[in-house]
Amino acid sequence: MSLTARRVRFVCFDADDTLWKNEEFYRAAEQEFGRLMNPYLGPQPAIDRLFQTEMDNLETFGYGAKSFMLSMVQTALEILPPPQAASAVQEVLQIGKRLIRHPVELLPGVKETLEKLAGKYHLSVVTKGDLLDQQRKLQRSGLEPLFNHIEIVSDKTPAAYRALFVQLGAAPQEVLMVGNSLKSDIFPALETGAQAAYLPSPFNWKHEEMEEPENPPYLKITGLPDLLAVLL
Ligand SMILES: [Mg+2]
Repeated sequence: MSLTARRVRFVCFDADDTLWKNEEFYRAAEQEFGRLMNPYLGPQPAIDRLFQTEMDNLETFGYGAKSFMLSMVQTALEILPPPQAASAVQEVLQIGKRLIRHPVELLPGVKETLEKLAGKYHLSVVTKGDLLDQQRKLQRSGLEPLFNHIEIVSDKTPAAYRALFVQLGAAPQEVLMVGNSLKSDIFPALETGAQAAYLPSPFNWKHEEMEEPENPPYLKITGLPDLLAVLL
């Protein structure tokens, strides 16, 4: 426990795997991709190759489902001989479209927690990824009216958080950032002087993985409703 709740006036939430499920659908899509690359490359080596392509493309394409889809297409073209590649690319596009159209599944207690905090705190969503994709998920989540501010950034750096806090008129110490990624949500926010609550997720993207420190300078929670005991 490391949080001074009485200073908090602004609560910022990451979206994917903090408000709703996300990563497990990407993992399932990767498995489908792996199966599709058989017998030219085993499923795991194919998934590893896909991850490498994603990392190589990150600067060019950014985060999100469409970038993921393009990386799947590129990897399939690299793995498969041309006759097989053409039909596999069709399949890959279907995997990607299903991922994008997947219904939003809120994590336990999210709506109730936000309803209780709304009005008492200034609530924001801070998410990175594809603009259209993230907007669509927010609309489908039904949570949009509970937020005072929505921020979709291309990357979650300390500078991006600082700019957001300035825009909100918030001193960093008044902000609590809540998220499932130590790398994107917790540490960059702490670096600005904000406070943070870490909600570990059972599914993680390799790119976001980071070791937990021994004496965490943040509050660790098991679900969003844990915030109510601290903030209300
Ligand atoms: Mg997240």
